[in-house]
Amino acid sequence: MKKVILFVIDSLHPVVLARILSEGNAPALSFLAKHGTYFDQVISAFPTMTPVATSSMITGTWPDQHRVPGFIWYNEEIRKIVDYGATWQSVLKIGPQQVLRNLLIRLNEEHLNSKTPTLYEELEAGGYSSGNINFFMHRATHRYKAKIPFLLSLATGFRLKQEQVSGPAHLTLGQLIHPPFYGWPVSYPIGPFHRFGVNDVFSGMITAQLVREKKQPDFTVVYFPDNDKYSHEYGPLRSGPSIERADQQIALVLDEFSSWEKALEENVIIVTGDHAQSTVGLGKEYLIDLDYALKSFQRLKATEEASGDDNSKEIAICPNERMAFIYLLQRMNEILPEVVGILAKDPRNAQIAWKVSENRYCVVQGGTEKELCFWRIGPYQDLYGQSWSFEGDLSVVDAQVVDQKIIEFGKFPDAFNRLISALEVRSESRVIVSAASGYEYFAVGAPIHPGGGSHGSLEQEDSTVPMIISGMTVNLKHPRIVDLYSMILEHFGLGR
Ligand SMILES: [Zn+2]
Repeated sequence: MKKVILFVIDSLHPVVLARILSEGNAPALSFLAKHGTYFDQVISAFPTMTPVATSSMITGTWPDQHRVPGFIWYNEEIRKIVDYGATWQSVLKIGPQQVLRNLLIRLNEEHLNSKTPTLYEELEAGGYSSGNINFFMHRATHRYKAKIPFLLSLATGFRLKQEQVSGPAHLTLGQLIHPPFYGWPVSYPIGPFHRFGVNDVFSGMITAQLVREKKQPDFTVVYFPDNDKYSHEYGPLRSGPSIERADQQIALVLDEFSSWEKALEENVIIVTGDHAQSTVGLGKEYLIDLDYALKSFQRLKATEEASGDDNSKEIAICPNERMAFIYLLQRMNEILPEVVGILAKDPRNAQIAWKVSENRYCVVQGGTEKELCFWRIGPYQDLYGQSWSFEGDLSVVDAQVVDQKIIEFGKFPDAFNRLISALEVRSESRVIVSAASGYEYFAVGAPIHPGGGSHGSLEQEDSTVPMIISGMTVNLKHPRIVDLYSMILEHFGLGR
């Protein structure tokens, strides 16, 4: 049975990948594409944020099932905003301890639904070993004790007492959790200037080392984080150089086999992204200031608990770059129409969506009077075989009915399903906004990228990633990132 390696390049943009392939600047990816199947339109989860998308990949479910709503979200159970560390300011405000604990432990052990098994859990239960190298989502049955590097614990005060991190048979999370080396080989990029090992070169070196030492698990996920940062800064269309650097790391792994052909004889190799990015305009008008727009409401602060003594907080704004959740903390029936009314006046909000009642959802387009309501089950089918009913103007999500009963989505792929999954993740009442091209949301705690790249929205450019699958035959017609899960299980004979 061939082993499987899944390389995930954060914010991998299909147009840029196609360009560097045609320019001949990514030899490893070119080799894999030439010997495999190339998809340039794989649809990601919504919001198009890393924790959401990677949870979808590793559980094969949408957020309404895996229960990880975003990078910043409101958790009704503790009545507080959860932030995995979107900005340095928020890290300082919330406390580095909290942020690290959220990212390292709670995301996997508490937030990710225990009822949606991860690929590692399924494979290991089926008798296969699995491994994770720097990938956000690592829940499995093995327990690890994190070694907090001295400088990091000094800077954050972070110490893990009894808590342990769970993971598959092999787990590397930078310097925090790693295989037992005899000291650090000098060439490994670690320390505070290399994000304590959470970087592409480290991911590549550890993977190559596993292959070299014949310790490669049957299934390994390898995460390359650097392209996200690069693309945010320089804009997605100029992210070629950082994708080329990820390519060099993949080449390093392939080089551990006697030839690249040999690597494909022994492995299925998959390369994809979690989400892509789109370009943000330069200038203040491209920032949609939600704190200002919603200033008439009492807003929950990042560090506060809702319904403390005075019970005065009305909403919690949770910006996720080009989308935002506005949670309604009380007086739902009064506050909902007011919030929707305010947001609907601004044409920079491409969609404003909310849940009306059981299995009924509405969405309006900012700056127009257009409204659309939709629900599951009905006479209309989309290309994924999901069936729908709707009332109102389909242009709100750029959809149209073709061939009588076939519904086709244009600029907002799989819009109905993805909107519902973001409205149904956990039980909090909320309004969702998704920005038009070129805009992003600003509020306390929001990272902003004027003139750079951003993501999060329902729009095609944020939502579409390329995927290369080599070393196996593939039978996918309209791939979405959740399809990886069943494809990999089937490869190992564990399909259901
Ligand atoms: Zn990002």
